[in-house]
Amino acid sequence: MADYQNRVSQSFGERIRLNRFRRKQERSNFREEFRVVPTWLIVLVALLYVLALAIGMYVNLTRGYVSPDGAFHHEIWPWEYRGTPWLASLMLAGVVTLMAVPLAGFLLLLGYVYRDAQRRGMRAGLWLLLILVLSPAYLAIGFLLYFFMREPLPYACPQCGVTVGPRFNFCPNCKNNLHPACPQCKQEVAETDKFCANCSCELKRAVPSSAPPLGEAEAL
Ligand SMILES: [Zn+2]
Ligand SMILES: [Zn+2]
Repeated sequence: MADYQNRVSQSFGERIRLNRFRRKQERSNFREEFRVVPTWLIVLVALLYVLALAIGMYVNLTRGYVSPDGAFHHEIWPWEYRGTPWLASLMLAGVVTLMAVPLAGFLLLLGYVYRDAQRRGMRAGLWLLLILVLSPAYLAIGFLLYFFMREPLPYACPQCGVTVGPRFNFCPNCKNNLHPACPQCKQEVAETDKFCANCSCELKRAVPSSAPPLGEAEAL
């Protein structure tokens, strides 16, 4: 039983290691990643912000109470700036913006995770649910978990260059083993490894069929 658990945790760790290895090869910048966020969500967040500003200012400038003698008394926040409504409105806008920034960031990040998980072939709905469940108590831990666990994007087969999914075991074009294992201890190794990280067995390169790319190590 202990041996089985050990093997399961080892293969899990190996999977994480391979995922991180492939993700490191993904080049991305903030601008490109931001394009993953759905446009409708960005528009919605902007509209909600404008709406919050408008309602806040309207209420602040019009609220008040009627005293027993029938006179209407304005109650502008902050009271010290009641003489200059535009300044009071500006301060209110500042407060609304301060509250809106973290909320907008949270919503946009949710949209990013959902789309990103979809393009990586992961269960986007489940991840969204997990983050939403964890957020009230553990704040960003759901997002951290996602960015740590997420699978690599579809990548080019190291042998023939055809795009393959992160869950493929073999390249559908050239039959290349996409998860090569050490011939001695059967642990998964990365394509660029020259020696097995577990047992130091030397990894043989693939039989050169046409022109194998440099630095490729494939075990049989
Ligand atoms: Zn291939
Ligand atoms: Zn080995």
